[in-house]
Amino acid sequence: MASSCCSSSVTFFNSHSKPNNPLASPVPAQANSFLRFHSNSSSAVLRLRSTPAPPPNAHSFRVMASTLTAVEKNREPLKIMISGAPASGKGTQCELIKKKYDLVHIAAGDLLRAEIAAGTENGKRAKEFMEIGQLVPDEIVVMMVKDRLMEPDSTEKGWLLDGYPRSLSQATALKGFGFHPDIFILLEVPEEILVERVVGRRLDPVTGKIYHLKYSPPETEEIAARLTQRFDDTEEKVKLRLRTHHQNVESVLSIYEDITIKVDGSVSKEAVFEQIDTALSDLMAQRAEKMGSAVA
Ligand code: AMP
Repeated sequence: MASSCCSSSVTFFNSHSKPNNPLASPVPAQANSFLRFHSNSSSAVLRLRSTPAPPPNAHSFRVMASTLTAVEKNREPLKIMISGAPASGKGTQCELIKKKYDLVHIAAGDLLRAEIAAGTENGKRAKEFMEIGQLVPDEIVVMMVKDRLMEPDSTEKGWLLDGYPRSLSQATALKGFGFHPDIFILLEVPEEILVERVVGRRLDPVTGKIYHLKYSPPETEEIAARLTQRFDDTEEKVKLRLRTHHQNVESVLSIYEDITIKVDGSVSKEAVFEQIDTALSDLMAQRAEKMGSAVA
């Protein structure tokens, strides 16, 4: 078992010439997750590359097995939670994070809107709460999110969970299922900016692109004519949603305090992403360092 593990790792590294530029290399999902999080772990890479085939004596076999255990442990895909008030820019940042880090983006609000669009019983019930800016009951949301997190793409690539957990009970439930994020990102934006962003926000149902009537207007008359507004993106409803957000965010933070980074979401999307990207790069460097010392 140990030797089959080892030989596949050696083959893997030999077949990719750029271990220090992992994000750019189109490698299979499992291999990519290894590379992504250990781009700085030259000691681990060197050791695997230079380790000869396992000699047939018990001592060498033990050394090989423990080396592989340390490597295997660090193959864990990245798990991120992102939270913020309505229109804090979560959607935009999730697109950027997903693109760079190749994670599965799971948005609780999108899962609920899909249920509504499919006309399911859960969708019908969820809409009643969404209409009034309140949280949809846990018995609908918790299992829906848990099931999505357990899909093969999420477990293999890692996930970016957006808009969940939104309450202490949701966070506790997730913990109980054994899901532990590596980092919790909180986007902070002043309330007056949020209301203005929400009220002008429009969706192009054809391309899925989000516009803002004032800050990011549609390119053509044709697009402008087909834009739609989310049913809960009115001033009245956003105020209710903001109240719900403020009521719950502190209790969620109390669970993830030690892994939370607070990001200023009121600046340009590039500047927001820079803050997030720095935090994620630091996290990956730390993991790589840990792996280096575990293997050394
Ligand atoms: P969002 O798309 O994140 O702005 O969410 C839209 C609405 O979906 C919220 O106002 C809630 O009514 C509902 N919702 C989204 N995520 C959750 C969640 N984790 N728990 C309960 N309700 C949620």
